[in-house]
Amino acid sequence: MEIFVEFDICCLKLYGCYVLYSKKPVIIEYIMSIKKVRHYVSREFAAMNKPLFAIAFFSLILLLTGCQTVPRPADQLPTAQKPFPASPPATPDQENDSSMAEAPSYLDSTRWWDQGRQDPVRELVVETPEQLVARVPKRSNPKIVILQYHNVVFGRTGGEYNRDLYNFEHDLVFLRNRTQIIGIDDLPYLKSGEKKLTTDASILTFDDGDLSIYGVVFPLLKKYDIKATFFIITDFVGTVGYVNWEQLKEMSDYRNAGGEQLFSIGSHSLDHRRFDEIPAAQIPHELAESKFIIENNIGTPVWYFALPFGAGAGRKEIIDAAKNSGYRGIRTSRKGVMQPGSIDPYDLPVFYMSNERADILAQQIYSLLGR
Ligand SMILES: [Zn+2]
Repeated sequence: MEIFVEFDICCLKLYGCYVLYSKKPVIIEYIMSIKKVRHYVSREFAAMNKPLFAIAFFSLILLLTGCQTVPRPADQLPTAQKPFPASPPATPDQENDSSMAEAPSYLDSTRWWDQGRQDPVRELVVETPEQLVARVPKRSNPKIVILQYHNVVFGRTGGEYNRDLYNFEHDLVFLRNRTQIIGIDDLPYLKSGEKKLTTDASILTFDDGDLSIYGVVFPLLKKYDIKATFFIITDFVGTVGYVNWEQLKEMSDYRNAGGEQLFSIGSHSLDHRRFDEIPAAQIPHELAESKFIIENNIGTPVWYFALPFGAGAGRKEIIDAAKNSGYRGIRTSRKGVMQPGSIDPYDLPVFYMSNERADILAQQIYSLLGR
């Protein structure tokens, strides 16, 4: 039915164009009757000027295709679909930068997933460590969760490994509201009791060395003073879509205002082969050689290894080889959380951050922590 109606409208417009080009008088009664228009067009078509008709026809196509999309006002969109809103409240390092005040920002102050909750801070802002810790709930039995990310992308995602920036930011808001974000290098001190936790803690890790860790994650975490560890595959460094050595060195060398190193580089093997499929004799080489290559390029010791696909977790020969190579720990892909006193550094569990909605992952992390 719709096709016929559209066809009738087309006929009407076609006739209008034809009349316009041929300067024939328009008879209103004729136009009002679709049937008559059809009839008239078919009758006139036989006798009409063909080139003129062609011009009229293509004009009509342009007219129709050019008017199809009517922009929808942003304020009529549901909240979740709203484009990035106006600038967020100024943060200390923005106040002195007038260009930033004008720039559109994705730092929404009304996070759709967090509406109606009681969290005092619903947005990502620059805060001192004291402010951050003061806001996080105190725990008598604090736990530690290691988060396993891969890529962070802006816009549409191509798979579960690609976490979109919007949800990634929500993750950070949740983690800073509910946990203290620490570095993986804190683990030995927490295990020994040299450092104590009063809140749950989280550790950010990113696997594979995707270029987005430099282009997207590095600037964001720098700005909000958040620690992270990047596990890289040495054979992939500098290839298309992956970070190069200069970028890794820049990340590793970065120090915050307090002179603290925020980003550490770990090994994720030479070539990302599964450790349960390569010959056993190859494993010590994968561990030692990848560590050596990274250290040689960034000039900083590498302490942690992440198993490709988590394969071979808990296997004694892998753990022994890792210890012999000088690693302080192995991050697996096994799901779980830790308590400071029971950290097993060579069998570290994770929570895998797929491209799921931030509120759903937040709930899962919270229940994994037992809260
Ligand atoms: Zn991997």
